[in-house]
Amino acid sequence: MSSWQIKDFLSVCEDRLHIDGHDAVALAYEYGTPLFVYSEPRIRHNIERLQKVGENVGCAFKLCYAAKAMSTLGVLRAVRDAGCDLEVNSGGELWKALKAGFRGDQLNFNGLSKEGWEIELAIENGVYAIQVDSLYELSLIDETAKRLGKKANVSLRLVPEIESATHSGLQTALLTSKFGMMPDEAFGAFAKYKDSEYINLNGIHLHVGSQNPSPMVYTQAFDEMFESLLRIHRETGIRLRHINLGGGFPVNYLRDGSHTSEFPAEQRKMFAADFEPAEAMRTAWAEVRKKAEAENAIELLEGITLLLEPGRSIIADAAICLTTVRNAKQRPTDDRRLTSDRWLLTDAGFNILLSMETYKWYYHLISAERAGEPHETPYKLAGPLCDGGDVYFDIEGEGRLPDHRLLPENVEPGEVLALLNCGAYSLAQASQYNARFLPPVVLTKTDGTAELIRRRDTFEDLIGNDL
Ligand SMILES: *Cc1c(COP(=O)(O)O)cnc(C)c1O
Repeated sequence: MSSWQIKDFLSVCEDRLHIDGHDAVALAYEYGTPLFVYSEPRIRHNIERLQKVGENVGCAFKLCYAAKAMSTLGVLRAVRDAGCDLEVNSGGELWKALKAGFRGDQLNFNGLSKEGWEIELAIENGVYAIQVDSLYELSLIDETAKRLGKKANVSLRLVPEIESATHSGLQTALLTSKFGMMPDEAFGAFAKYKDSEYINLNGIHLHVGSQNPSPMVYTQAFDEMFESLLRIHRETGIRLRHINLGGGFPVNYLRDGSHTSEFPAEQRKMFAADFEPAEAMRTAWAEVRKKAEAENAIELLEGITLLLEPGRSIIADAAICLTTVRNAKQRPTDDRRLTSDRWLLTDAGFNILLSMETYKWYYHLISAERAGEPHETPYKLAGPLCDGGDVYFDIEGEGRLPDHRLLPENVEPGEVLALLNCGAYSLAQASQYNARFLPPVVLTKTDGTAELIRRRDTFEDLIGNDL
């Protein structure tokens, strides 16, 4: 059994890749490629794993899936049916969440350039919390709530100095990042809006960034949040109702180790990051509890609701992207810059997997048709876009990605391949660049069926908004 396989989820049957028992190649033939296949049982499994955090902390717990990782309605419904709440970060995501059947009190509204209509939509629907990013925004919310004659639930996003060994674009808790309020600004806000008629200042929030390789950042984050909770209580008498520690739990993108040695050490550590969120939070809780005891503030701690808003760790490994080899070519073998002379051109480029280009992200590749055969032949892989950066390796030669991929021998045009762990930040960031159709999505469901939850774009969709 290859190490990318996952019992009851990703398996090989008669040499073909199966997802929840469905033949991936048959799905590719039925719906065409590129095709995303999401697994409802895997989404549930990942949510159950994260819900275990609730058993390991001594306070109430609320889990919100970060919709920005993937928000096709069928997936949002699967998340809702699994008993998970939602984090949204725009009026559009908020609207989609309501369409998918979430109630306002199940929604946490983030974002840092909110417009009036978005704030209105959030207040009208009584969201659990609007996460506020600046004093200016807080005044906007106050005005809007007053105009609507309602009270807005609000939580302040802080920007503590917590460095995480993840990709620089995924760092969000540094003073140099664009997110959040300085602690003093936040404390001032609590003093000012303490008895406000229109603002319920309920909590504080922070998000340490995505794909954090170290569980210790959660202890650090929780500790900093508790310090703030304590200070707010001492200075203003306010008892906060929740602390939101954001998302960022990692997914092991290098479960299959065949290319592991080709990554630089830091990059390898990040892609192979793996720890149990429930264990990380057990440690964090124990540390903070000690402090709360020493400070005589245990009630304050046990009286809160702890929120987490993970995206990647719920959805990344729940999907594969099926792609077909559309073209092949041979390059001269005497050029030392090339580690393989065989090139394969697929129909999956950075139009649907943007992180491959922007963050040099790694998605493990296998043959869906010959999943059980040895993958030992090197190929250079590239996508279909008229853009030299649309390749599956590091074109700048910085060695941040393997230079070639390993597949069975004699791969020819027409063979269906599968990119694994493609569920997060893929379709959600996709574009029609090069007038390529946005791909369809199939959801394999807990009842054993496979349902099309998003159709492929048509020609008309390519000009649908053009006047
Ligand atoms: C993106 C984001 C998340 C989710 O991050 P993951 O790494 O996908 O878990 C959670 N909270 C906020 C505020 C975010 O911006």
